[in-house]
Parts: sequence; structure tokens; C-alpha cells
Amino acid sequence: MSEKTEKVKVLIIGSGPAGYTAAIYASRAGLSPVLYTGSQPGGQLTITNDVENYPGYPDGVMGPQMMEDFRKQAERFGTEVRYGLVTGVDFSQRPYTATIDESKEILADTVIISTGASAKWLGLESETRLNGKGVSACAVCDGFFFRGQEVAIVGGGDTACEEASYLANICSKVHMIVRRDELRASQIMQKRVMNNSKIEILWNHETKEVLGEEEVVGVRLVNNITGIEKELTVGGFFVAIGHEPNTDIFKGLLDMDDNGYIITHPGTTKTNVPGVFASGDAQDHVYRQAVTAAGTGCMAALEAERYLAANELT
Ligand code: NDP
Repeated sequence: MSEKTEKVKVLIIGSGPAGYTAAIYASRAGLSPVLYTGSQPGGQLTITNDVENYPGYPDGVMGPQMMEDFRKQAERFGTEVRYGLVTGVDFSQRPYTATIDESKEILADTVIISTGASAKWLGLESETRLNGKGVSACAVCDGFFFRGQEVAIVGGGDTACEEASYLANICSKVHMIVRRDELRASQIMQKRVMNNSKIEILWNHETKEVLGEEEVVGVRLVNNITGIEKELTVGGFFVAIGHEPNTDIFKGLLDMDDNGYIITHPGTTKTNVPGVFASGDAQDHVYRQAVTAAGTGCMAALEAERYLAANELT
């Protein structure tokens, strides 16, 4: 190890609810964690407006504000929050190595991965422009804002079906836009959607444009068989075409499922590499909530602390 190479006990990668919660716990345990924020400091919540389902905020909170609060709380106990991107890791020998911004290296006894996931988008200009103004990739987060209104949701997988069912409980009608003549979702989810009288499936339809200036007022679709276009009047436009975990730099190093989610030992945040823990959406494609991410961030910090103690690294 060169004299200049820095070594830390706990390296946290990512700055969403999982990363900051891990930081709060690790710093309060006296482990002086270093956290790298990644390219989107604060994570997915920074592109959300009101967060109304995180306990402890009875009046709701803006997503960016909440992540600011998380950061301050982590820093208060001594977490060093650094703006930078971990561009590579080496888990072949201990201490582990992480490369920051393709230049600097840092050594770590334990690594907590909380790099999150990113929603996939259709790639329309109008979708980007109206993001947070009626366009959302999270029905559980934003569905409530459209209660009593008609909404549209794109996708035909389990997520789209689950979110369409969720929206149908709140909204007056859900238009489900499916690009093929069948759903990809599991049979049980398909049945649930098809038996719900508030959900109308538009088969073989694709989105051409989300309509609205300041907020979503509708959507323009095209039938990809007939070429016939139609417009729907909706207040909310949900995109549920999948998520991508931000785990590329760990490929080949950690066990992952077919979609790139890190596999953890059941009931823990332990990966197949001792001392490397995974929390939040990088290892969870089912719940994907801020509060569940925070919960697994807490678990990762406690497990890192125990690992350090067991290996006499504290
Ligand atoms: P999936 O990849 O399973 O489904 C994506 C859906 O979006 C497909 O219907 C796909 O269409 C459609 N789609 C993709 N790109 C576009 C596009 N550009 N325009 C229009 N439609 C598009 O993603 P999910 O997020 O639904 O699920 C991910 C994984 O998580 C799956 O393994 C799923 O089973 C699992 N999951 C499990 C849940 C549970 O068990 N409760 C809940 C949610 C997810 P096409 O079929 O034509 O490719």
C-alpha cells in the first residue's frame, strides 16, 4: 500500500435512503464511514416532489429536502460525504479497493453498496419535460396526487400490473397502454388487472406524446397495427416499463440475478463476498420504497460493524 492510499473501515457507495441510513448507523458506531454520493446525490428521491409515505413527516416532505435531511443527519455523527463516482472495485483481496472517478483509489475493510436503481423511461421529450408534473415512474409514491382522476400507465409486466391495480383503488379510471397483444406479467397479476373494471387495457398501443404545458392533461397514442392515433384525457402518466439496478461495476464480482440485482443471503444484506453488503434498490426489485431501503441500510451498517468486530478490524 502506498503511503498516500487512504484506508477506511466502512466505505458506503450511494447517497439514497439506504446509503445515508447506513452512514448514520456506522458513524454513530464510531466507524468513521466515507460515503461517495454517485452521479445523482440523494438518489431517486431527488426527482420526486412530495413524499407523503415516509413515517415521521406528518405533513409530507419534498424529496430533495428529505435527502438533504438524511445527509445532514449522517454528517452530524461524522460521516464524510464526498461528491464522486465509484467507477470500479476490486474485491479479490482484503482490504478491498474502490476507484473513484477513474483516478483516486481508496481501500476499505467493508463496503456497503447502496447504488440504487433507475427507472427506465420511454425517451420522449414531453415525458422528460413533464417529469414530476404528472409524469411519474412510481405509482405508490405519486398515485395519491391523482385520486379521483383518470390516469394512464405504460407497461405490461408485473410492475405495471401491480401499479395499475394500486392506481385503480385511488383513481377513477386507469388506461393501461401495452405495446403488444399480451402481457408479460405473471398469470395471477394478469388476472387481477383483467378482472378490474376500472382498468382498461389498450393493446398494441404506443405513446407518441404526453400532452400538457405546465402539467399533464393527456396523452397521444398510436395503434401500432392500424396506425390510428387517439388522445386520452388524463391527469397522470405513469411509466412502468422496468427498472435497472445500478450495479454494472459489480458484474462478475458479486452474485446477481438475471436482471442485475445483487443477491443477498436471505434475511441479511450479506453478498457472496465477506465484508461486502448490499442494501436498498440495488438488491430489491420487489418493495423499492425509501423506508425499506433505509431499513436495509441500517441492516448493512449493523452487519458491517459485526464483521469488523469478528475479524478484529475495529
Ligand atoms: P418487465 O421487464 O418484466 O416488464 C416490462 C414491461 O414494459 C413489458 O411489458 C415490456 O413490454 C414493457 N416495455 C418495455 N419497454 C417498453 C417501451 N419502450 N414501451 C412500451 N412498453 C415497454 O419489468 P417489471 O418492472 O414489470 O418487472 C421486473 C422484474 O420484477 C420481473 O422479473 C417481475 O416479475 C418482477 N416483479 C415482481 C413483482 C412481484 O412479484 N410482486 C412485482 C414487480 C416486479 P414487452 O413485454 O413487449 O417487452
